[in-house]
Amino acid sequence: MKTALIIAIDGPSGAGKSSSSRQLAARLGYRYIDTGALYRIIGLLAWERHISPDDGEGLAALCHDLPLHFVSEPTGVRIVLGERDITTAIRQPEVSQMASKVSAQPAVRQALLTLQRQMGQDGGVVLEGRDIGTVVFPNADVKFFLEASAEERGQRRYRELQQQGVSTTLEATLREMAERDQRDSERAHAPLRCADDAIVVDSTTLSLDEVVRLLLQHVAAVRKC
Ligand code: C5P
Repeated sequence: MKTALIIAIDGPSGAGKSSSSRQLAARLGYRYIDTGALYRIIGLLAWERHISPDDGEGLAALCHDLPLHFVSEPTGVRIVLGERDITTAIRQPEVSQMASKVSAQPAVRQALLTLQRQMGQDGGVVLEGRDIGTVVFPNADVKFFLEASAEERGQRRYRELQQQGVSTTLEATLREMAERDQRDSERAHAPLRCADDAIVVDSTTLSLDEVVRLLLQHVAAVRKC
């Protein structure tokens, strides 16, 4: 029986990656790594420090020696940078857009690639992102690509933002998501793409429990191999 697997979960925003990755990791006793949070942190810092999303060098400098801590709590994971809790700040719509812009910079991707590989290399992890199965861990033991209809993804994202106390509208959320997905899919470096050997899960009509059950079935099959 295989243990300490590397599980990659990619897909567009709002496809249900975060909730299902978190629950899958909890059910397996694995670590959950939200790689989008890393790009969001660079997006937040660039936004606050007025660094242009075109300034590759300036952005890459932000990626080094990040005093970053992921603090697990019963209610979720808090993200702390230095002394500052940035859990909510990185979810703001402006930061989502900035994260997507800075993530197109090869220097940023390279710096965060190293960090992500260090975080996941020992296995026993569920990594969620856009390029985990294609670039970060192309030899991951299990790869999932989660999708859902644009309407459903927009509704989910909107509910999630409301729960996080972020003020926005459904229309703005749908627009913001479509822009971001287009940019993420069309960028030259490590675009959002389904790996050839990924298992595609369409979650449009599935509950979170049903998605997690499906993922667990696939993982159980791989573990037996
Ligand atoms: O997953 P999340 O919506 O938090 O990701 C924020 C942004 O970070 C995405 O829109 C994408 O541009 C970028 N990202 C990425 N590669 C990853 C994870 C996130 O480019 N592995």
